[in-house]
Amino acid sequence: MLPESRARSEQEAGRAVESDGFPEETPESQEVTRQLQESEQRYRSLFENNVDVVVTFGLEGKFLQMNRATEQLLGIPAKELVGTPFLQMIVPERRAHSEREFFRVLEGTPVQYQTAVYNRRREVIDLHVTVIPIHYEGEITGIHCIGKDITKQKQLERKLNQLAYFDPLTGLPNRNSLDTNLSRQVGERRKFALLALDLDRLKAVNETWGREAGDRLLKIIAHRLRDFLPSSADFFRNSGDDFIVTYYCDTDDECLGFARSLEARLRDPVVLGEIELSITSRIGISTFPDDGIDPDALLRKADTAMFAARRNGRNRVAFYRDVKSKDDARQFQLEIALRSAIANDELSLAFQPQIDLATGEVHGLEALLRWLHPQHGQVPPDQFIPVAEESGLIHEIGMWVIEAACRQAVEWNHAGLGNLPVSVNISIHQFYDDEFAGQLENVIRVSGMDPSRLVLEITESISSNSDVVVAQLHRFKAIGVRIAIDDFGTGYSSLRYLKDFPVDYLKIDRSFVDHLESNEKERRLVATITALAHNFGLQTIAEGTETAEQVAIMRELGADHAQGYHFSRPLAPDALVSWLAARA
Ligand code: C2E
Ligand code: CA
Ligand code: CA
Repeated sequence: MLPESRARSEQEAGRAVESDGFPEETPESQEVTRQLQESEQRYRSLFENNVDVVVTFGLEGKFLQMNRATEQLLGIPAKELVGTPFLQMIVPERRAHSEREFFRVLEGTPVQYQTAVYNRRREVIDLHVTVIPIHYEGEITGIHCIGKDITKQKQLERKLNQLAYFDPLTGLPNRNSLDTNLSRQVGERRKFALLALDLDRLKAVNETWGREAGDRLLKIIAHRLRDFLPSSADFFRNSGDDFIVTYYCDTDDECLGFARSLEARLRDPVVLGEIELSITSRIGISTFPDDGIDPDALLRKADTAMFAARRNGRNRVAFYRDVKSKDDARQFQLEIALRSAIANDELSLAFQPQIDLATGEVHGLEALLRWLHPQHGQVPPDQFIPVAEESGLIHEIGMWVIEAACRQAVEWNHAGLGNLPVSVNISIHQFYDDEFAGQLENVIRVSGMDPSRLVLEITESISSNSDVVVAQLHRFKAIGVRIAIDDFGTGYSSLRYLKDFPVDYLKIDRSFVDHLESNEKERRLVATITALAHNFGLQTIAEGTETAEQVAIMRELGADHAQGYHFSRPLAPDALVSWLAARA
């Protein structure tokens, strides 16, 4: 409490001077004087020996007094500093802010903030400052400032930020920056084009002249483009030789002109030591909002267009809208392949553990469908489930999933691995299918599965049509299975529905987790969801927890269980058994 002790010592010092005027010193006044001297010394020592910067300013912001730490940090002796205005020490971009804060203190409010000053050698020093008014007899007579040197911490922060958001090779913003930027841009609701740009020759350069030459080429291209692009464009390195440019444009023609000039600039020869190369590129374009309103869709579509531009010999620039029908053709091909996937034994299940946050034990497993396409390799469920739904194949595939999950659970139980509950995802199409409940019952009976160990995960969107839904849910409950609402928080259902639904679990969608650490509102929302869920007798499962910190926050906010990469990715059955064994 520096200001108080200072203020007190000044006041008491004032009184001490008065008492000096008395002819006789009483024992009491001697004691007061001693105490005063002691407190004055304590203050001096706190001031002088403090490792932090301690400065007193006059009301007009000039240096009055400072400790040794200040002289050392700034490299300027006190006698030079006294009488100079502090504002000239502050780096220009912080001056206005520091000045505003100074005026707040003059009005009596203590403040804390971060700022940066120059030292004698014009090096920037980052400071965390606490600035407090000095009160004397009800008036503000000056200002104390305590500053902590946070230069190292700031440097580390900048470095981490650089690592997280920039590609070390080219210095360009990376995939993370792209994600952040796209989310912001789609929020602005202004038309823009997303250009996926791919270099034709990088692979050949790497193979012929080595990776170092390839890296040099990337750097040259990155710098060239950065100089070329107008301020209405942003430029990212997505991965490898794959760059993304976003560009505000009002018409498709404008965008096409821009893409062509970009491509032409890239074709200018590149000199790599002895070698002179001509680099060709392909550009695929999707536009917001015409081709999609979410970043993933825009990226995917720009990619599709880029691939089409690559197949097409002459045209190096392609719009998604012009190649769309070919994209539909891919869907059609997927559908044909999916038809024979079960018969060809291409489907399998991966299992992701769900952890009980109170005990740390495995609470259950979620079965996730995997498709190994003979030509395309692993196709993500997000891509083929919609195809299965549109084509009606989902009924057969969905039943295969339940059968396989039950078979696996029974097998593990017999092998002594415990009777862990297994969740399966149910498509909305299955949910509304009148035959589904009968088939489900049948599969459970044949497999020997304990129905109370089977959890059906149903997405939140069912809650829109609530009478039919409640009746259907009761049919499932009658079979003895449990029910989870999946991806809770992404749809439109209100928590109000929950009390009418015979549901056991609520899975809090992954999108909440992303914002927990920084967003207080999000945390309150999650706390409300878990509290209401508990009120209705439901347990909550936090999805997509990737870090220990996220898990800890979710536990604090009342989640019962958590699932996510922090504990484990979805694992093939053998890998899951090893994972369980390693924990035991
Ligand atoms: P979902 O039901 O929300 O499944 C969770 C998805 O999140 C899984 O993706 C899983 O791999 C992923 N995930 C788990 N933990 C994390 C994490 O910590 N971070 C991140 N970023 N992701 C995590 P997957 O396996 O690709 O499945 C995607 C979606 O496909 C599922 O979302 C589900 O809606 C659907 N799906 C999967 N299997 C089936 C199925 O058998 N039937 C139906 N109808 N849909 C399925
Ligand atoms: Ca799920
Ligand atoms: Ca989910």
